[in-house]
Amino acid sequence: MTAYQFAVRYLLYCSNQHRRGSYRRDMMQDKRTQAAVDAGHPEWAELPATKHAARVLRAEGWPIGMPKQFFTGLPCREGHISPKARSDSRCIECQRIYTAKNAERIKAYFQANIDKHRVQDRRRRKKNRATIRVVERRWDEANKSKVRLYAAQRRALEANAALPWLTDEHLSEIEAIYSERARLTEETGLSTTSIIASRSSTPTCAVFTFPGISKS
Ligand SMILES: [Zn+2]
Repeated sequence: MTAYQFAVRYLLYCSNQHRRGSYRRDMMQDKRTQAAVDAGHPEWAELPATKHAARVLRAEGWPIGMPKQFFTGLPCREGHISPKARSDSRCIECQRIYTAKNAERIKAYFQANIDKHRVQDRRRRKKNRATIRVVERRWDEANKSKVRLYAAQRRALEANAALPWLTDEHLSEIEAIYSERARLTEETGLSTTSIIASRSSTPTCAVFTFPGISKS
């Protein structure tokens, strides 16, 4: 930026008498973006920068799918560079640590009040049905292989052919095959039959076998 550009942007009013830009504000914004990148979460820079900005955004209507948080780029009192909750301005990392430390107590409290929580949850889902639907559909779009895997599991369950001994590793293996199938379908234009877990010791489908999966 030349000295002249700097002067126009930060020292003078525009021809319409608009307020000049703030050099400090711009520097803060750059620092905040850099802090988000350094923390490994560049998406935090998309959040409102201050409690006040979050309040304004809330009044305008919070974008669907955006976490109810704001990100200042400054460390909390424990030194975490992390977003803060819109509702009570608590550091998300501090919250996570607190929840992990008190997991047993929180779980016990939840169990003791499970009926109340069920009613609350149902009321909340009913109230936010439209939003939840959008968020869930987006998740489906982003996790197509998982959706296929769950559908296959449901079919297997209905056909009474579920494999209770499948481990998480098996499932992620099967999920990888679903993504591979989607890729091949896209590449060749040919579709394959569905993969359905069977009772045989080596589940197979039309194209793939599962050498890694054996009933042991
Ligand atoms: Zn913190």
